[in-house]
Amino acid sequence: MTEAETLNIFKKSGALLTGHFLLTSGRHSDRYFQCAKVLQYPQYTEALCKMIADNFRKTEIDTVIAPAMGGLVVGQEVARQLNKRFIFAEREDKKLSLRRGFTLDENEKVLVCEDVVTTGGSVFEVIDIVKSNNARVVGVGFIVDRSNGKVDFNYPQFSTLRMGVVSYLRDECPLCREDIELVKPGSRKVK
Ligand SMILES: [Zn+2]
Repeated sequence: MTEAETLNIFKKSGALLTGHFLLTSGRHSDRYFQCAKVLQYPQYTEALCKMIADNFRKTEIDTVIAPAMGGLVVGQEVARQLNKRFIFAEREDKKLSLRRGFTLDENEKVLVCEDVVTTGGSVFEVIDIVKSNNARVVGVGFIVDRSNGKVDFNYPQFSTLRMGVVSYLRDECPLCREDIELVKPGSRKVK
């Protein structure tokens, strides 16, 4: 898929909105992104995860791992396409860990998957889990890089879309100055 086609999938599914948005931080932005909106359509999930799977097709992989919740759909689909085992880490007492009897063997080759990377916190935690089991991270694949390439995991990494998040303080917002209606995503319009 070309970048334009990828972007079109996000727009068509309503995952990527353009306008004038009030973010949870209180700042204003001209873009809003909700990855779950695109992943609700299996055909889009399949197409986006194929980009990740294709990128790592020549990499030796035993297992795909993802952090819950966001990474589950992506990790499962990438693993399905590569025909590999899929496991996930989940939060217990605020810390990600392997539960449900999931284990990693020594030197097992592991691909880490995630939906959205902003600061990369969950992915870094999963990388630590892999390392602490003496297994090996061979790559990191995710759907959207909201850091616009700033987050570096120190392993081969791939995202289907890079985007920078530009946000403004209310008093400095150019969209407010243009009198464009302010919208709080996921709720009714606010004035
Ligand atoms: Zn504004």
